[in-house]
Amino acid sequence: MTGEPLALYVHWPFCVSKCPYCDFNSHVRAEIGQDEWRDALLADLAHEARLLPDRELTSIFFGGGTPSLMDPSTVEAVIDAAREHWTPADRIEITLEANPNSVEAARFADLAAAGVNRLSLGLQNFDDAALAFLGRAHSAREGFRALEIAQRAFRRVSFDLIYALPGESEDGWSVMLAQALSLGTSHLSLYQLTIEPGTRFASDVAKHRFEPLDADRSAALYELTDAMTSTASMPPYEISNYARRGQESRHNLTYWRYGDYAGVGPGAHGRRGGMRTVRHKKPENFLSALRRNGHGLSEEEALLSTEAADEALVMGLRLSEGIDAGAIARRFGLTSIVDWSRVDRLVESGHLSRDGERIAVTANGRLVLDAILGEIAVRTISVAAPLPELRVESPAELPPARRVAAC
Ligand code: SF4
Repeated sequence: MTGEPLALYVHWPFCVSKCPYCDFNSHVRAEIGQDEWRDALLADLAHEARLLPDRELTSIFFGGGTPSLMDPSTVEAVIDAAREHWTPADRIEITLEANPNSVEAARFADLAAAGVNRLSLGLQNFDDAALAFLGRAHSAREGFRALEIAQRAFRRVSFDLIYALPGESEDGWSVMLAQALSLGTSHLSLYQLTIEPGTRFASDVAKHRFEPLDADRSAALYELTDAMTSTASMPPYEISNYARRGQESRHNLTYWRYGDYAGVGPGAHGRRGGMRTVRHKKPENFLSALRRNGHGLSEEEALLSTEAADEALVMGLRLSEGIDAGAIARRFGLTSIVDWSRVDRLVESGHLSRDGERIAVTANGRLVLDAILGEIAVRTISVAAPLPELRVESPAELPPARRVAAC
C-alpha cells in the first residue's frame, strides 16, 4: 500500500443559519469552541492516519457546514498535521468551501496563508430575490465582491450556482450562466434545485407554497447548460461539475474514480482499504465519542466486493470519462459488473459510448443516468440506497442523475 494516493475530507458542521433546501450535516450553534474543535479534528485525523500509514496525500477538502467559519489557525493546524501524517503530493490540492458574506471574505487571505490553495464559493445565484428564496445570508453584490477577493487570494477558485428554481426560464438561466462563464473562474458547480425530504422546502411543497420546476423544463435547462459550458471550453466532467481542461477538482475525482479517502469530523464518510467509515453526525455526539474512544467513528463496515464494485460503477458513470468496466470487475474479483448486451443496446440508442471495456454516458444519457444504471448493472442497484455520503463540491448522498443541491 506504500505511497498509494489518499484524499482527506474534513467536515466542519456549523453554519450561521439553516438554508431551507439543505439536507447536509449542518448545525446552528450560539457558541463554537474553536480550540475544542481544533483538538477534536486533530485527534480524529490522527486516528485515521494510524490506520492509513505510508500514503501519498493528494488532496484535502474542508467541507461543511461552513468551513469558512473556521479560524484560519484551526485550518492551518489540520493542514500541518495532515502533512506530517502522510507524504504530501507535489501538487497537493487543498480546497475550502466558503460562503460569500463579508465577514468570511475578510478571512480569505489568512486562509490562503494557512495553506488553502483552492476556494469553492457558494454564490448560488446572482439575483437578490432568488437568494432570498434560497434563504441565503448574502446579497448578489456581496457575492461578486467575495469572488473578487477570492480571485486575488487563491490561484484556483470555483463557485456554485443553483438553478432550475420555480418558474425559471431558459432565457433567464442563459443570461445568468453567460455571466457566470465570464467571471474568469476555471471551475463551476451548477446544481439543479431538488427538494430533499426533511427540509423546509419539502414541507413548503407539501403545503403547496410553491411548485418545483417540472421535469421537462429542468431537462431543457440541463441541456442548455451542457451546450453553453461546452461552447465556453468548460464542459461537464461530471453530472454537475464543469471545468477547463486540467482544472477539475482532483479531490472529487478521487471519489468518483473510487480511490481511498479519509473522512474526519462530524458526519464525515470515508473509504479506507475496502472499509466504509461513518462518523457521528451531531457535533455533541461526535465530541462525546471522541472523548470516549479517541475517534468520532459511529460505523465501520467491510464492503462486500460486489457492493464495492457497484459503488465504483455508480460513481464512475457520473464522470464524462466513464469507467473501465473490465478493470473494475478484475479489481474486485468479479466476472463482470455490467450486462454487455444491454450496454450495446444503450450504445445503439445513443445513451452510452463504448470503447472496448470502457463505457461512458453520453450527453443524452446523463439526463437518465439512474435508469441506465438500473438497466446495465449485473446486480440490482438501488440508486436510492444509502451509499456513502460524499463531499463533492458540496456534500451529497448518492445524487440522482441531475443532482441535489449546493451549499
Ligand atoms: S446549504 Fe450550506 S450554508 Fe446553507 S445550511 Fe446547508 S451547509 Fe449551511
